Amino acid sequence: MSHEPLIAVVEDDSRMASFFRTLLSSHHYRVVIASTSVEAIAMVTSFVPEVVLLDLGLPDGDGIAVLRRVREWSSIAVIVVSARTSEEEKVRALDAGADDYLTKPFGAQELLARIRVALRQRKGQVDVPVLRIHELEINLGLRQVQLRGVEVHLTPLEFKILGLLTRHVGKVLTHQQILQEVWGINAESKFHYVRVHVAQLRRKIELDCARPRYLLTEAGVGYRLRAPERD
Ligand code: CA
Repeated sequence: MSHEPLIAVVEDDSRMASFFRTLLSSHHYRVVIASTSVEAIAMVTSFVPEVVLLDLGLPDGDGIAVLRRVREWSSIAVIVVSARTSEEEKVRALDAGADDYLTKPFGAQELLARIRVALRQRKGQVDVPVLRIHELEINLGLRQVQLRGVEVHLTPLEFKILGLLTRHVGKVLTHQQILQEVWGINAESKFHYVRVHVAQLRRKIELDCARPRYLLTEAGVGYRLRAPERD
């Protein structure tokens, strides 16, 4: 197993992609490359690289959408590398969670320097796209949930609640925190939204809703997703 940092490159221009591969390999980085948004999401989820270099203009959509998907579960360093130079584009990428922005054309030394900065800042942080608790598997990267190996279909809202609890696995989240994070509102009169949707979620991910094993109630406070037990 190599300890050289893994850089994921999302780039649809094949000449640009091979330039990245040659440059980064010669500086002892491991490199994986995707050329579409769909490939990029799968690649980042399965390889969990240290740094992502992200092009914005992709054949099947905008790189910003890839960035948003990655940010749902991960704080992996993302450097946008784009020919778009407007201040508006840069702000949009940074607001969506990019760590840095480099405009094409750029110098090889500058790119390498930005990568080193990103690696220094991220040292020690680990994000895992897949959480397994007994027979429940939650894949935040691919937005898939399985119970006993069978795929469970969740609504986007249910997935948002489960995703939030997964990112804070083992910790109690209050009704108010869940309401705020999932619905973006903050009113005690709406706490029943949380209760109703948690009940629906339990019907899908629990084997016995009367005695939940995964999505636990903290009476009068909120909910907690059971932490996986260590072997
Ligand atoms: Ca492009």
